[in-house]
Amino acid sequence: MTKHYILQALNADGKSVYIDDVPNGKNCACTCAECGGKLIAKNKGRIKVHHFAHESGNDSIRCSQTALHLLAKEIIAEEKRIPIPRNGQIDFHQTDSIEQEKFMGDIVTDLYANCENRPYIVEILVTHEVDEEKLQKIMQHKISAVEIDLSDKTFESKEDVKVAIYNPQNIKILYDDDTRLISERKEILLNYGLKLKVARGGIVGCPYARAYVPQEFCRECVFCCKEDSENIRCGISLPLLLKPELQNTTNILVNQNKVMFPSEAKQYNESHFGWKMRQAVKHGIMAQMMFSRRW
Ligand code: SF4
Ligand SMILES: [Zn+2]
Repeated sequence: MTKHYILQALNADGKSVYIDDVPNGKNCACTCAECGGKLIAKNKGRIKVHHFAHESGNDSIRCSQTALHLLAKEIIAEEKRIPIPRNGQIDFHQTDSIEQEKFMGDIVTDLYANCENRPYIVEILVTHEVDEEKLQKIMQHKISAVEIDLSDKTFESKEDVKVAIYNPQNIKILYDDDTRLISERKEILLNYGLKLKVARGGIVGCPYARAYVPQEFCRECVFCCKEDSENIRCGISLPLLLKPELQNTTNILVNQNKVMFPSEAKQYNESHFGWKMRQAVKHGIMAQMMFSRRW
């Protein structure tokens, strides 16, 4: 078990505070988040690492681990940026909201955040990994979750901890809800998506391009679900077509087994279509096909 410097504590108001943000010595009026013991701030020296020490002299491993856990949560809450599972990889996203120690009925999560109307869970590993029972509950909540492992590292400053938090090598995907969403969305698209006929190797009335597009464009477009030689299923107007209870699933878009936020999908579609279109025009195949309207 790794013993850490105590870099974070609770001030007189019970607020989580960093060693360099409090007065030196006993004047810091801080207590240990684990044992509640009084702390002394040692933050004056230039050579020694700034840290808290228990007035009693008893700096236990347990107290140091709780302090690290507290600091890590505070850093992520301040940064408002979390790692999330995205198409099987770790991606970092700004959050719209973030809460520490969120009680969710049957579990408490270290951090609970929202990005573009989708919830995410972030767990910090200092002493205990998320066990099977908690993982099952996370899956029942259908919320993607990651675990950041800080257990066997030593840190001398907040910056050290921050670097480790945002290092993908320290992050494990606990549960990725994308797989469920992909199959759910495909099911919805197949039932409710616009069925458009393929004619002359393409779609005559693409609602996105407001023009004829070759069928290969649909294959790449984020709105496309399924194609065969005769029809495609286009999901562009899905949010309008769906019943309110199904509309949540349109907060994400799916293409070729990729999940995207609407903002990512917009970028993806525009860059992809733009490139393809330039190629097509360059080769003189469909010079008349210009997008007349964007999102
Ligand atoms: S799937 Fe995309 S490219 Fe195909 S018709 Fe729909 S919007 Fe147009
Ligand atoms: Zn303590």
